Amino acid sequence: MPDGLVGLDAEQLGDLDSYEGTLGGLTRREFINYCAGVAAFLGLPSAMGVKIAEAAAGAAKRPSVIWLSGSACTGCTETLLRTNHPSLDTLILEQISLEYCETLSVGSGHQAENWKKKAMQENHGKYLMVLDGAVSTKDNGIYAKVAGQTVLEMVQEVAAGAAAVVSIGSCGSWGGWPSTGVNPTGCKGLPEVLKGKPVVTIPGCPPNPYNFLSTVLHFVTFGKLPELDDKGRPKFAYGRLIHENCERRPHFDAGRFAIDFGDYGHRQGYCLYKLGCKGPETYANCPSIGFNDVGQGNWPVGTGHPCFGCTEKGVGFSKSIHELASLKSVAPPNTYPDVRSEKGNGASPGAVAAVAGITGAAIGAGAVIASRLGKQDKADDTPKTGA
Ligand code: SF4
Repeated sequence: MPDGLVGLDAEQLGDLDSYEGTLGGLTRREFINYCAGVAAFLGLPSAMGVKIAEAAAGAAKRPSVIWLSGSACTGCTETLLRTNHPSLDTLILEQISLEYCETLSVGSGHQAENWKKKAMQENHGKYLMVLDGAVSTKDNGIYAKVAGQTVLEMVQEVAAGAAAVVSIGSCGSWGGWPSTGVNPTGCKGLPEVLKGKPVVTIPGCPPNPYNFLSTVLHFVTFGKLPELDDKGRPKFAYGRLIHENCERRPHFDAGRFAIDFGDYGHRQGYCLYKLGCKGPETYANCPSIGFNDVGQGNWPVGTGHPCFGCTEKGVGFSKSIHELASLKSVAPPNTYPDVRSEKGNGASPGAVAAVAGITGAAIGAGAVIASRLGKQDKADDTPKTGA
């Protein structure tokens, strides 16, 4: 979450003077900036950043979190810890009370298990349960056990006393890679296992940690979860198709595609649809926020790899990487007019208008953008448009 998102006035900042030094590793201003950024991220007015800061810094007792792990690669926990600007690991470990986490807990064995039980008793009905990884269900879940208890039993026991349940990552959300193919251990996502209990899903492989943190802060601030879609995903993060915000979208609209990895179009940053990009049928905010705090551009499509749809049930880990995505909004024509001028520099207005007319009106592409993209560098090999 970059600095500078804050839109608070001096009075609002002054109200938070008392929070100086409450968060190790963050200055007061960094903390307020961060909370205002979270507010913007959640689609709330910037002034709500104050409310989030008050709730986060002024909470008499940090909300207890019991973090369980099922069948997974631990990438979800790793991604949470690898963010560094601001130091999310510091923030999340100080804003919540992480009572139990197999990857992060210092204690182990009976000590850790006893602490988990104690936390569940003392915070009954108030704690947040988080699960990363799929739940093995075949043969009563005997293929995944922790401390002699199956993960299946564990999630049912812990969820029964939780105020809210969050499954982080694609495996926890619907089974992810452990559930692909023959699925010998019967892996399922948490919503399928906890029937009748609402489960917030934060899918992704890995999920974006800010989507998780913002969900937790929403819960801490307002005492309820953010608005969810029909798959349990927070709408603030999963409300739009990747295809809608992708930086390569103007190329899609202009009919410019990479056909092979390393070809002219791929080197030019053209649209990856014909390489199997699943952005047109996948809902997530990856292009808007990126990964690893580098910002926009630092996500699979930004680095030249097609989106494989990891946040979308029935797409990621289900469709072949080279299979073309289903277009939810508008289907491209089989062939496109050549948007390059025969003689030179840029698209002819007629061609641009034709392309924009075909696709732009329906999907928000403008002739201006298409025209700008038409100004390509001369190169000694020929771009391949259409297939
Ligand atoms: Fe971006 Fe993929 Fe859509 Fe092309 S198909 S615009 S690369 S999301």
